[in-house]
Amino acid sequence: MKRPNLIYQKSVSGRKGYTLPNTKNRTSEILSAIPEKYLRTADAPLPEISESEVMRHFVGLSVKNHHIDKGFYPLGSCTMKYNPKLNDKAAGLKGFSSHHPLTPNGLSAGCLRLMHELSKDLCEVSGLDAVTLQPAAGAHGEFTGLHIMRAYHLKKGDTKRFKIIIPDSAHGTNPATVTSVGFKTVQVKSNELGVIPPEAVAEVMDDEVVGMMMTNPNTLGIFETHIKEISKIIHDGGGLMYMDGANLNANMGIFRPGDVGFDVMHFNLHKTFSTPHGGGGPGSGAVGVTKELEKFLPFPVLEKKDDGSLFFNYDRPDSIGRVHSFNGNFGVLVRAFAYIRSLGGDGLKEVSENAVLNANYLKEIVREYFDLPYDVTCMHEFVLSGNRQKKIGVKTLDISKRLLDFGVHSPTNYFPLIVPEAMMIEPTETETRETLDEFGAIMKQIATEAVEDKELVTSAPHTTVVRRLDEVGAARKGDVAFLED
Ligand SMILES: *Cc1c(COP(=O)(O)O)cnc(C)c1O
Repeated sequence: MKRPNLIYQKSVSGRKGYTLPNTKNRTSEILSAIPEKYLRTADAPLPEISESEVMRHFVGLSVKNHHIDKGFYPLGSCTMKYNPKLNDKAAGLKGFSSHHPLTPNGLSAGCLRLMHELSKDLCEVSGLDAVTLQPAAGAHGEFTGLHIMRAYHLKKGDTKRFKIIIPDSAHGTNPATVTSVGFKTVQVKSNELGVIPPEAVAEVMDDEVVGMMMTNPNTLGIFETHIKEISKIIHDGGGLMYMDGANLNANMGIFRPGDVGFDVMHFNLHKTFSTPHGGGGPGSGAVGVTKELEKFLPFPVLEKKDDGSLFFNYDRPDSIGRVHSFNGNFGVLVRAFAYIRSLGGDGLKEVSENAVLNANYLKEIVREYFDLPYDVTCMHEFVLSGNRQKKIGVKTLDISKRLLDFGVHSPTNYFPLIVPEAMMIEPTETETRETLDEFGAIMKQIATEAVEDKELVTSAPHTTVVRRLDEVGAARKGDVAFLED
């Protein structure tokens, strides 16, 4: 059945929910600036409803969907932590939110200083020497990083390299980015402990390898224990080490990629540094590099003059060029800066320690009810397998749909690919012990239901506004005005 969007259904001719500023004496001036052919001849067919109805409509919609302000969101790899509202407030300050990106440097001192200091903070967190804030997402950071790696080899006259070594546990964006820049992926297998053995890398290393992309902790939530040996193999063969830093939430103040041989990395500011994300909203995939690679960074680069003032330097002959208009998503940068400065160095370390503690605590609760393929101390997330339940006819997808009935978002499903029926759980540091206990109890209940009342789980969700959706269709068709039942 097709249901009409309620806000149109409530429309009553002549009802009004707004008060516009009085522009009477400017109306003709404004109208005369618009070419005749663009002027409306009839009113736009908008719903006519009162302010209270508008409020109820949007508040109602906001609770039909799941979000972090509404409930627990253990979506592994995505770091769906609670974002302090203070950071939103900072991003909304007029001097930031209303600042035009084409304003001359001399009138942008505050914004430039924020970007400069944020870059320095990210250098400190990563142990790298220089940062670009241009890329707008993690995958975009990967794209930027691989171009920098290519520029490094080409500058040396080394033109035959085209391979990137990637673990079988890698996030899908890694091989996708490799393809998008015209390189070729060479896969290496992780071992039974969930980490990459140096021998596997040595085996495929040759003079056609651009470098290696690693995620640490990896997507199994396990710390890669052989980074130093692997990085030596890659460097000895003339290659570079790239770190996918999306899991930085486990590392801050504890492990610095630059200290153990990584040459390039991207940060997901929208994951680790507190910008609400999901649904393709604005992000930032800032990229950090070593001193040696600094000259290849996208231009313009923010630099300091002798008098201490900041300016954008376009005179960067070795730069890979621009990767984004203006300065990336500036509001995300403000949030990251506010987050870092309000927590301080000790606070960031505590974030990572608590993220790891929460994940291990939760793992110990739920391991009794599900398979745990890698039984090691995890970092900020861990991966369960629903294999035991699959054998009796309940898939991981069913378990995740059933979680919705309890007001909880599902973990990441069927990823990483090397774990059958995977459930990747990342509780984040912002959840209380009570929430973790509650989630543990829900997982226990679902495991029991899978045995005793299978149908209840396989037909879930039962309490949500819509039931099982055509998820691919929902993403592709994007028709928000009608809901198919
Ligand atoms: C999220 C993520 C990415 C990609 O980041 P986007 O901002 O979504 O493009 C890459 N690698 C890992 C491990 C991730 O979790």
